[in-house]
Amino acid sequence: MKDCIFCKIVANEIPSYTVYEDDIVKAFLDISQGTPGHTLVIPKKHIPNIFEYDEELASQVFARIPKIARAVKASNPDIKGMNILNNNGQVAYQSVFHSHFHLIPRYSNQDDFKMIFKDNSNRYDADDLKKIQESIKEHMGD
Ligand code: AMP
Ligand code: ZN
Repeated sequence: MKDCIFCKIVANEIPSYTVYEDDIVKAFLDISQGTPGHTLVIPKKHIPNIFEYDEELASQVFARIPKIARAVKASNPDIKGMNILNNNGQVAYQSVFHSHFHLIPRYSNQDDFKMIFKDNSNRYDADDLKKIQESIKEHMGD
């Protein structure tokens, strides 16, 4: 897609530190290096976000992530774990609108990556959860 920075990386029109590529995906270092080894995995096809994948492409892309994650982990003995993140929409911190999965190696709970899941469970009773459950299920389709 014209004017998409990641499509330009796929086409080698702008340089990247690519660590893996095949006909379906390209994996390259995130320029921000949130932690050392921070890598992005993207479909070569321009897909804006998770909502736009068909099942075939989703399975092809996801099938490649564990192998790339293992290589990133093996690249540095100090890597103890990894967060894999996929941001969808500006409100969810997506800034490049070509779908991508962040592989963020974790070195300790004092490294440069933080994620906060607030526990709001005391604000929901069984009825509230049931309503949410039903409303999601209604939209599940086949
Ligand atoms: P997100 O905020 O989830 O959309 O993530 C987009 C990511 O793309 C950010 O972490 C950026 O650091 C990264 N990024 C932007 N431009 C480039 C580039 N030219 N090469 C590598 N990573 C990039
Ligand atoms: Zn694109």
